[in-house]
Amino acid sequence: MRGYWRGAAGWLALWLALAGTAAATAGPVPALVGLAAWLALLYLRQAWYMGSLLHWLDQPQGTPVPPGSGIWSEAFAYLARLLRRQRQNEADLRSALERFQSATAAMTEAVIILDELDRIEWCNPSAEHYFEIDARRDLGRQLTYIVRQPQFVEYLDEQNFAEPFVLRGARGGETTLTVQLVPYGNQQKLVISRDITRWERLEAMRRDLVANVSHELRTPITVLAGYLETLNDQAVPDPAFQKRAMQLMTQQTSRMQNLVEDLLTLSRLENARGPSAEQPVDVPKMVHGLHQEAMALSAGRHQFLLDVDEDLWLTGAEAELRSACLNLVTNAIRYTPAKGRITIRWRPTQDGGGVFSVVDTGIGIAPEHIPRLTERFYRVDRSRSRETGGTGLGLAIVKYALSHHQARLEIDSEPEQGSTFSAIFPARRTCTAPVARAATV
Ligand code: ADP
Repeated sequence: MRGYWRGAAGWLALWLALAGTAAATAGPVPALVGLAAWLALLYLRQAWYMGSLLHWLDQPQGTPVPPGSGIWSEAFAYLARLLRRQRQNEADLRSALERFQSATAAMTEAVIILDELDRIEWCNPSAEHYFEIDARRDLGRQLTYIVRQPQFVEYLDEQNFAEPFVLRGARGGETTLTVQLVPYGNQQKLVISRDITRWERLEAMRRDLVANVSHELRTPITVLAGYLETLNDQAVPDPAFQKRAMQLMTQQTSRMQNLVEDLLTLSRLENARGPSAEQPVDVPKMVHGLHQEAMALSAGRHQFLLDVDEDLWLTGAEAELRSACLNLVTNAIRYTPAKGRITIRWRPTQDGGGVFSVVDTGIGIAPEHIPRLTERFYRVDRSRSRETGGTGLGLAIVKYALSHHQARLEIDSEPEQGSTFSAIFPARRTCTAPVARAATV
């Protein structure tokens, strides 16, 4: 800048000197005319550069800064530098924004930014999903216009955000969300929301389990306590009563034992992500064993039919598969009156899988109960289940053991006609009997 003033002063001094010399030699009029011509040229030059600057300012994006000379070249170079810096800042901001948007888009948590009047300024795709916000339509709307529950409106009004708000019934009633508000900046708020539907369901299941187990244990414990008290109070022991008491106490103890064993099996299966082993399982041999056990359990009350593919094996955990199949067989015995028929079948399916099915001619199940049978402690007829030694956990165990083997349970039943319980295994779980065994069969 200082160079410019020096240059300008130099030019002025030169022209004044020239004008002075012209005035001394040719008189004052030619000198003034020359000076006026010089000023006019100077004015035109400035006007021309000013014009190009105005023209450029009209459309600065995408057009190069106009060329100039003297102070104008410096001014234009300065503008060009400013423009470059601004473009760089814009690019940096854009890429930071893109990074922020792609990070928040990947978040499973819903994120919403509210302005000082609780109007939506911005939200991520999860927020659009959970709060059913349409980003184009709802930006600028108050959040309470979207979430209209009076308790939430109160929560926002109270401005006490130490604890998150639990929003039940989101997304048409099925979803539960926690909504945490974080005030920041100039009375703005960051809303972070998480889907806790699954967690709530698990909590409810845990509470139900505790209640159910306590309920299941209460009856046998009451029976045991009652008999023990009576036996204690008997001044003269009554042998007949003692015998009967012992029988009933043994019965109740084994009921508790069964319950605890089933609970432990269920918890083992629930905690494992897959089968406890990946070995070839000789299913035909296992089914023959189950058949023998079933006949012993039925003690001649039922007729049994067996239909087994002797070459079809499975890969997985034998103990889990056996437990699942045994549960289906014992259920058939327990829910089929005497003289009923029970068919145990192990056959390949058309797509290369295998199906283990137990068909009975028992009491059957009404259709409304079928979807709930694999829930823990779900029974169609509580007293019948208990009378026959049921814990209400059998089919839950079956479900977990099968899911470990990517198999599914199909139930087909008709009241008074009978039921078919089928465990269907996919092709990737089946294999043929190893050669050594096949040769001996
Ligand atoms: P439980 O120990 O009560 O048998 P399960 O989980 O094994 O418990 O079975 C759940 C309910 O399903 C039983 O209480 C019974 O009502 C019904 N059920 C299971 N298998 C049969 C069957 N073969 N025939 C009729 N009802 C059955």
